[in-house]
Amino acid sequence: MSPAALATMQEEVKALARERDAVILAHNYQVPEIQDVADYVGDSLGLSRQAAATEASAIVFCGVHFMAETAAILSPEKTVLIPDLDAGCSLAASITADQLRAWKAENPGAIVVSYVNTTAEVKAETDYCCTSGNAKAVIEAIPADQEILFLPDLYLGLWLERVTGRKLRIWMGECHVHAGIRPADIVRWQDEAPDAELLVHPECGCASQCMAFGNERTHILSTEGMVNFAKASPKKRFLVATEVGILHRLAKEAPGKRFEPVSEDALCRYMKMITLEKLRDSLRDWKHAVTVPEEVAARARLAIERMVAIA
Ligand code: SF4
Repeated sequence: MSPAALATMQEEVKALARERDAVILAHNYQVPEIQDVADYVGDSLGLSRQAAATEASAIVFCGVHFMAETAAILSPEKTVLIPDLDAGCSLAASITADQLRAWKAENPGAIVVSYVNTTAEVKAETDYCCTSGNAKAVIEAIPADQEILFLPDLYLGLWLERVTGRKLRIWMGECHVHAGIRPADIVRWQDEAPDAELLVHPECGCASQCMAFGNERTHILSTEGMVNFAKASPKKRFLVATEVGILHRLAKEAPGKRFEPVSEDALCRYMKMITLEKLRDSLRDWKHAVTVPEEVAARARLAIERMVAIA
């Protein structure tokens, strides 16, 4: 699309959103042209908070399906739309509600902490949801002698064990994008860019190893944490180990600094299913509505509200 056509379509999207009283929420991994028309760009926690607080009558969620479900659970009176219903998540797909019920039955009395990348039905079986932004605080809010089932991300679970000193029972799920960032990618970059700070998402396949050989230049952060860190840091060069969509926001919010991905292949095909055309069509044709049955939503809401409340 030419720059002029892109600008025209972005104006069309903004006008439709105003006309329809819709707020556009976009995840940090969305393509730049979506991020640039969004009312708010952030990570799962920030987006959940925005979804809960917005006064708009509709939310268009530019992210993946479980995120739109979370918005629908938090704001049941609002219309929640997603521009492409097929935008799923390999991590959320790694555990079903039936599998979780069976795991709970094997571990009676355990508290269930679920990363927000789960379906509404899994959240309904959960005591506390968390994101990478507040997972540590959520674990620390639970009494030390309480057994915890953590799901679905293996790497985030291992990282949590390290930073909290707690022993967790961890589900063996993974995100194909983050698990694909391997320790060798990090080692290569550390050698090639000795002047750079390394920003690593805790879902990465390299995250636990990064802590093992990490130094003062290695920082394990949520995507929101990466943005805040880069803005505040006096350093000029950063290597980024997460989905490459975050690079657009980093460059925008920390101008004059240099950001490079440790792996160009860290690209989530589900996040990239959302295009500007599909966003325009979603607003124009009022599709695709995401709803969660109230009996599931009511149970899931408690776990999500605990997540939103814990900083
Ligand atoms: S990057 Fe991974 S965890 Fe995030 S939406 Fe894509 S598949 Fe799911």
